[in-house]
Amino acid sequence: MLNLIVKTPHKFNFRLVNQEVQIHVMPLRHVKRATLRYDMTAQEFKIRVPSHYKQAAVESFLKEAQGWMEKQLSKTVQVIHIHACKQVSLMGNDIELNYLPSRRASFFLNENKLHIMAPTPHYGPHLEKWLKQVILEYLIDKCEYYSCLLGVQTKKVSIRETKSRWGSCSSKGALSFNWRLIFAPKEIIEYVVAHEVAHLKEMNHSAKFWSLVEDLHPEVKAARKWLEVNGSKLFQVQFQGQAFIP
Ligand SMILES: [Zn+2]
Repeated sequence: MLNLIVKTPHKFNFRLVNQEVQIHVMPLRHVKRATLRYDMTAQEFKIRVPSHYKQAAVESFLKEAQGWMEKQLSKTVQVIHIHACKQVSLMGNDIELNYLPSRRASFFLNENKLHIMAPTPHYGPHLEKWLKQVILEYLIDKCEYYSCLLGVQTKKVSIRETKSRWGSCSSKGALSFNWRLIFAPKEIIEYVVAHEVAHLKEMNHSAKFWSLVEDLHPEVKAARKWLEVNGSKLFQVQFQGQAFIP
């Protein structure tokens, strides 16, 4: 079995020192060497390998990567389904969630309470959609503000969910942000916006670029550190799928 060539994508369990982890093997024709990454949402390691790779080679690759894998896991936080949350932190405020059965889904934020009106208690996907709207509006506002300060123009602002980036700026001037920034404090979101807007003037990470960001946002170092330490926590709450509701 161990010498079989990996032909199709498959999953198997791999034993680390203290725990078992799921490995998702993806053989790909255009890939020249094996690469490993941790998928926080799926809570599994994904390994891309050349299509002629042997299962034994996959396992020895993983054995070598054990230390790195343990480190990834120590950085990640346990995923929680939204239905198991009594409160969430939105833009730095602890918000209590209050579900009310209703014919249509709608949301109403009053001080520190979010009233969730939805036809079923499985409101996760509706709430995710609403949060995306809230953060997008906030980001558009902030982009406009920083663009004004810098004398540049923002072409388009959009949101997406990426595992590795908080924001990006295209050569055409379109800015894109990770919607999960909504779970970060406002000053952190503002730093990410300032960073991307500054790219509209400096499409690089030169000293000149960083001094532009610092002109826009006073706490650049602290914000970068915060994202490095807490970034993975922003992926903690999951909205998709149905949860057990007693
Ligand atoms: Zn950048």
